[in-house]
Amino acid sequence: MFMLWFMSATDHRPRLDRLLARVFDDAGPVGVGSGWLSGTASVFLGALGVGAVACLHWPDLLTFPGSRALYSMWWIRPLVALVIGLAFALGLLSALLRPRKVLGLTGIGLALVASLAGGASVPVDAAPNSAVGLGLDWFLLNLLLLAVVFVPMERLYPQRPEQSTFRSGWTTDLIHFFVSHLLVQLSAWLTLAPATAALRLLMWPDLHAFVSSLPWLVQLGAIIVVADLGEYTMHRLFHTVPALWRFHAIHHSSEAIDWLAGSRLHLVDVVLTRGFTFVPIALLGFADGPVYAYLVAVSFHAVFIHANVRFSFGSLERWVVTPRFHHWHHSSQPEAIDKNFAVHLPWIDRLFGTYYLPHKAWPSRYGLSGESLPDSWWRHLTAPFR
Ligand SMILES: [Zn+2]
Ligand SMILES: [Zn+2]
Repeated sequence: MFMLWFMSATDHRPRLDRLLARVFDDAGPVGVGSGWLSGTASVFLGALGVGAVACLHWPDLLTFPGSRALYSMWWIRPLVALVIGLAFALGLLSALLRPRKVLGLTGIGLALVASLAGGASVPVDAAPNSAVGLGLDWFLLNLLLLAVVFVPMERLYPQRPEQSTFRSGWTTDLIHFFVSHLLVQLSAWLTLAPATAALRLLMWPDLHAFVSSLPWLVQLGAIIVVADLGEYTMHRLFHTVPALWRFHAIHHSSEAIDWLAGSRLHLVDVVLTRGFTFVPIALLGFADGPVYAYLVAVSFHAVFIHANVRFSFGSLERWVVTPRFHHWHHSSQPEAIDKNFAVHLPWIDRLFGTYYLPHKAWPSRYGLSGESLPDSWWRHLTAPFR
């Protein structure tokens, strides 16, 4: 009893981390064959299944209007059926293998809820046509894709093997990920607002015609350079202007960096940084194809550079931002403070004297230096205004 009190008194993890740990954790092994992996995957897939069935029931309310055109029921229904079926099967496996049944039974329970609510065969009569919708579909698909890619990658090639997928603060970052995806329409609209306003003031049809006629790869390369010069400027301003740092400090507050930690961003940070990055791209008038290719590549790359992976890229590290380069940006070690602002091209930092990448070394500490922020999504949202 005393030990339990002592543990909770010294446990600084967010409340939701502790609550989930109390429900699901036990002293049992977590390796292959212990029922832990199958149980965790079952709970994850079961929760995704419930969310997916909710999207099928209420597509007007829960799906992002911008992504609806990409969906077709010929792959959505089999995917939802597969997710629910796997949640059942893996939950059963976990319940058989693991002495404590809570993981397996929770996964089975979620799969059961998804099935009883209609499963993959919920009728979707007419094409949803609401102009405004939440991005629950966007959240579920991205979470599934990124977790399938990055969780095994981080377990197979970890830079910090001792850092668990469920490290302190993972629930806070998952809520950041959830809310930013749910509000994707709002953030896309706010992000495009400065570019729309700039285009109203300055419109050069001849320049647009010239730029959009350049070869596809040349446009993509130019977008990366133009975007990163903008990102470098905004990022450096966020570090040097105290009123802006209050917002960007949220991104730096994580003391454990992994694929999910990159989601820890204040909405003001996202909107200002991306908004002003899009202004020169819009004014130069690149074609839609290279712009979309850039957006897809950058959303994957942004997750990758935060990942807890030990890959080494040799001399390429001087030219392309890698996890090691961006991990140094997140370090609280004095030599790395206010360094490595570029997000794609490290030579921009070399050009402006803010480059720091010691040979083959990784940081030993991450987070804020001399500041502390409470670890909860709501407090992250409100902290800059206090
Ligand atoms: Zn920063
Ligand atoms: Zn970062």
